[in-house]
Formats: sequence, C-alpha cells, structure tokens
Amino acid sequence: MSKTAVYPGSFDPITMGHVDIINRMARLYDQVIILVAQSSQKQQMFTPEERKTLIEQSLSHLKNVKVDFFVGLTTDYMKKHNAQVIVRGLRAVVDFEYEMTMANINKKIAPDIETMLVFASPEYYYISSRGVKELAINGGALTDLVPDVVIKAMEAKLKK
Ligand code: ADP
Repeated sequence: MSKTAVYPGSFDPITMGHVDIINRMARLYDQVIILVAQSSQKQQMFTPEERKTLIEQSLSHLKNVKVDFFVGLTTDYMKKHNAQVIVRGLRAVVDFEYEMTMANINKKIAPDIETMLVFASPEYYYISSRGVKELAINGGALTDLVPDVVIKAMEAKLKK
C-alpha cells in the first residue's frame, strides 16, 4: 500500500525549517501533501493562494510532494485522500504541549491516523514564520532562513 503523509500548517511563509522537514519526509513516504490552513486565526502576511505558490516554487525539486488547501478537520481531509500519517515539526519544548494536545485530539476522532513528530534539524530549530516576518518588517537579513522566492515575495509585500 502506498503511504501518504500530510504536513498541515499555516506556512505564512514557508521557511527553511519547513523545507527541511519536507525534504526528509519526501524520502520516507510515497507522497507528501502540504496542507495550507485557510482558517487560521493568526494574522497573515500572505493569502492561502500566495502561500501555496511559494511552497510549490520552493519545492519544485521534489516530485512526490503536492500542496493543497483545507478548511475544516485535517483528519477529514486525510480520510478523503487516503493519507495515514500527520507530520508535525518539533523545535523547542514550547512546541511540545500544543503538539501533544493536537495529536491526542486527532487520535480520539480518527484512531487509524498516526501523528509523527519530527525534530527540527539543529541548524533550523530557531526559525519560525513569525520570527522571519518580524525580521523582514524591521529590515533584517533573511538569507538562509527562507527560500529565495520567499525573500523576494516578502520584499514586494513590504514595499506596498
Ligand atoms: P501552525 O500555525 O500550524 O503551527 P506553522 O506553519 O507555523 O503552522 O508550522 C507548521 C509545522 O511546522 C508545525 O508543526 C511547526 O512546529 C513546524 N515548524 C515550524 N518551523 C519549523 C522549523 N524551523 N523546523 C521544524 N519544524 C518547524
């Protein structure tokens, strides 16, 4: 049976931390679906469509990765698309409680779906979309933190 993992998140914008997790997961699974959250309460810099395009441009080297949107429960999307595993990244301990709660809720509503928590690589563990936006707004350098297409897109956004 072919194995599909879903990596849900805001990705506002995609960072090198996300890219690293996706590169690693694309080696383990037959297919990886990046699921861009549409109904996040967080204040967003990019629209879901813009975030999807930036992810696609950053991952064009991976043939078994696709990007999609979702409204509603990740587990409902997964049942529809025959996906078995939710992938989430873990940076510091502060991520842990939130991720454990989400994993337990998902286990309760969809017992057949597994959550896999993947440790951020040491060189990326401090990168967050929020931090990157803060840096960009204040004129900090984004080299090595986000893909080049994202640097350009953020510069264009902030010029407006
Ligand atoms: P959300 O708003 O759902 O937390 P994010 O786009 O911020 O979405 O993150 C999606 C997932 O990627 C989360 O599991 C988050 O912990 C993980 N993640 C974010 N930044 C990194 C990073 N630098 N390294 C590894 N995982 C990360």
